[in-house]
Amino acid sequence: MKLNCSIVEDLLPLYLEELCSEESKSALEEHLRECHSCSEKFARMKNGQIIPHTETSETKPLIQDYAKKVRHHRICAGISIAFICLLAICALTILGLTLLDMRRAANPPIYELEDGVYNLTSAALESTAEELEQYVFYTNTAKISVKVDGNRHFQGTFMLWDKENSGSFIQICEVDEKTSTCTFTGLSASRRYMITCDGLAGANIAVSDGQDNSFLNSLSNVLNELGLYILLPKTSEYLALNASNVPLSRLSRILAASSL
Ligand SMILES: [Zn+2]
Repeated sequence: MKLNCSIVEDLLPLYLEELCSEESKSALEEHLRECHSCSEKFARMKNGQIIPHTETSETKPLIQDYAKKVRHHRICAGISIAFICLLAICALTILGLTLLDMRRAANPPIYELEDGVYNLTSAALESTAEELEQYVFYTNTAKISVKVDGNRHFQGTFMLWDKENSGSFIQICEVDEKTSTCTFTGLSASRRYMITCDGLAGANIAVSDGQDNSFLNSLSNVLNELGLYILLPKTSEYLALNASNVPLSRLSRILAASSL
């Protein structure tokens, strides 16, 4: 870019304040090397011997405008960089918490339990629908997950009972071949649970502590803990129904059937 002397004169004050763009700067320096008159003017300006020509009323607004633009540009760039850094820090924090959660899920503490209690935290259980109610379960993940194995048509119900609290009914969950898994949530490690089923004669049942070691699940846990509810794919595992969601007539029929 070739500059003429009057443009150079306008640019000199900006150059002195280091407000020029790299492009203008190099063009100006090139001109100063070649033009004796301008370089002399620049030298005097630098020594404070002359007030810059640009301080005249005619060009001052232009220069100020340009300086303002440069400042504005720098502030915008600064804000953008700060924002990007903040986003990166948030993303790294969430990633770190997610990895911690995955590690915690993969290595649950295993406690010694009283005899006759099945510890779902150390291993899942395979049972038949008929034998299921013989077991007493312990979980320390606050969840118990029940899955019906098999692809033939079925429709039935799982019921969760509190063994300690005079065998009281806690939750009910309906399953069919589309939704073959249900997870009872909000459970306590200090309680012992029993599961009964209805309408699933002959089916194989897998019972687990519902622990999911996947990245997505841990990410979902972390986001929920942080209060950032976003739409992550939910699986049918979260379809467990509370007793209040089931029509009373159906519930009383199930309860009557299971107490026989
Ligand atoms: Zn010149």
